[in-house]
Amino acid sequence: MGQADRTLLSARIARTRISASAAAAQRARELRAAGVDVIELAQGEPDFNTPDHVIEAATRAMRAGQTHYTQVDGTPELKAAIVGKFKRENGLEYKPENISAGAGGKQVLHNVLMATLDPGDEVVIPAPSWVAYADITHYAGGTPVWVPTSPESGFKLSAGQLEAAITPRTKWLMLNSPSNPSGAVYSAEELRALAGVLERHPAVWTISDDMYEHVLFDGRKFATLAAVAPQLADRIFTVNGVSKTYAMTGWRLGYGAGPVELVRAMARLQAQSSLNPSSVSQAAAVAALNGPQDIVRERSAIFEARRNALVRRLAVIPGLACQPPEGAFYVYVSCAGWLGRRTPQGGTLQNDADVTAWLLEAGLALPNGAGYGLSPYFRVSFAAEQALLDRACDRLDAAASTLS
Ligand code: PLP
Repeated sequence: MGQADRTLLSARIARTRISASAAAAQRARELRAAGVDVIELAQGEPDFNTPDHVIEAATRAMRAGQTHYTQVDGTPELKAAIVGKFKRENGLEYKPENISAGAGGKQVLHNVLMATLDPGDEVVIPAPSWVAYADITHYAGGTPVWVPTSPESGFKLSAGQLEAAITPRTKWLMLNSPSNPSGAVYSAEELRALAGVLERHPAVWTISDDMYEHVLFDGRKFATLAAVAPQLADRIFTVNGVSKTYAMTGWRLGYGAGPVELVRAMARLQAQSSLNPSSVSQAAAVAALNGPQDIVRERSAIFEARRNALVRRLAVIPGLACQPPEGAFYVYVSCAGWLGRRTPQGGTLQNDADVTAWLLEAGLALPNGAGYGLSPYFRVSFAAEQALLDRACDRLDAAASTLS
């Protein structure tokens, strides 16, 4: 970076990185443009289409003139649909003034952290976690405190680990179940154990990121902290959205619920950035939340079948190991057995960044674990056709057989 650049760009932007998954997807696009055959399983979005009735509702809204600015953090119709969703699916009683809608769950999370973090404030993040938590925390001037979990604990944070991670500077605990990238799902019992710790620390707040609520396997029941521990409700902000549940990533519509004071502060912030989320996307989200829900279950069953096939294949590739994810659409694969091995090109695989860089040469784009806070791993998204997943496993298998 030259002198001129250094004066132009802020310290804040210097703390902001491109995520491992976006970087892997971008590299795959570049290679493809250059004619290389690359399978990309890096992106975190359902490969299905937005349901027809949602698209029709959006079209009707546009024709009816819903193409103007709206209330900053959501129309009354959208807030009513979100209140209804929390009641119906989670047994949570919110009022419209508890609800905040933005351009994706990501903007909602960004608003929460920007509205609450001062320099030095700590955010406890179980590792592995979605990379954005740490990155937004940095951007907002806070300090991420990664707490490593392990396959033995199902990649879940224990009450003891939470207790040990809390300091006088702790502002937030980040919880995400089902988890991106590990697929871990917290049971009500496990959440109650964490709630027991949180009760003893009245200055600690919790973000419950429920974005993958409906991608749940083996008949598991979804549990969310605000419902399991109502005594903590005024210290919980629950994030959700239509991206993953209804295959609506491109519509950019996420939402959250929590204390009015926080929701108002978030609206002040959003009023100085993007204003309202797209009026058309809000109308679409109303249709998604209020409409038939069968498609959600059907799609989760498709993800489960793919998970089963993928985990079966991964289990027999020498040097790799993984836990079957309990939800979401990612497998977090340990490549510890590949480290220290030599590639046919003559290099030695030292870490998971080396592994994914080498796999890219073998025609497979995957994000490495370092970005998610726990190495040595890489993440495989199974939001892709079975045939593509099979071909990806063929490539992993072939790659493994060339290591010496
Ligand atoms: N939370 C988690 C754990 C995610 O993986 C994502 C997207 O990848 C989001 C939130 C945000 O999704 P969106 O901004 O599309 O609503």
